[in-house]
Amino acid sequence: MTSALPSLIVLGPPGVGKGTQAKRLAERLGLEHLSPGQLLRDALASGRPLEDNVRAAMAVGELVPNEIIDRLVQERLEQLGPQRGLVLDGYPRTQQQAETLRGMLARLGRLERRPVVLWLEAPREELMRRLRHRAAQEHRPDDNERAIARRLELHESKAPSLLATLARWTDVARIDASPPADLLTEKILNTLRERAAAGGGATSVGEQPMLAGSSRRPNSGSMTWAAIPVRDELPPAS
Ligand code: AMP
Repeated sequence: MTSALPSLIVLGPPGVGKGTQAKRLAERLGLEHLSPGQLLRDALASGRPLEDNVRAAMAVGELVPNEIIDRLVQERLEQLGPQRGLVLDGYPRTQQQAETLRGMLARLGRLERRPVVLWLEAPREELMRRLRHRAAQEHRPDDNERAIARRLELHESKAPSLLATLARWTDVARIDASPPADLLTEKILNTLRERAAAGGGATSVGEQPMLAGSSRRPNSGSMTWAAIPVRDELPPAS
């Protein structure tokens, strides 16, 4: 069996708004949101036992070992029905993870459609501004100056090889993520529509559009991205 929608993969540097956008896209498009970073934070917050090196790696902004992250993603993917659409958030982050993911998606029949990578980008000063703001609001343990610097550095060092690997089997859309979150969501949805219209990875994925203004989740697998409702009014830029 094959999945009806291409998988969406949201990537980018820390502070660019991956998590916010991935959650909104999942909500708007009726997809499952899978964020290894969030799963790890939830596990730590609930006191579930995790390998000591996971907590330590996260606290200083290092990547968690591949075998732990890959297993986490694989378990979640296997739990999803094959027809359930997917937004991956913050995975893969390395060339090796990208290759592992490709294998997982192929085994699960999720490569019939070329996945779409939303590669979010913003100037470093804007990332720092957002991360400092988030640190004050959310108290994430890894939003301290040293861990932030390390996470940015890791992203920058891994990005070229990760992008090159992904470009071989996904449809990569590089997106300027400087606009405020609401505008950015609409911009991303427009990008998906345009790609669907142009015959990219998101074409011919069903017939039933999601109802405009409705919070009803569509039957995943029965909508086209080309039919994503266009908002009459965009929220004012803040
Ligand atoms: P995020 O919520 O995506 O910013 O991730 C927070 C932290 O979780 C990262 O700084 C890493 O320590 C860990 N993490 C999340 N995703 C991955 C991944 N794909 N590979 C390795 N570590 C990850």
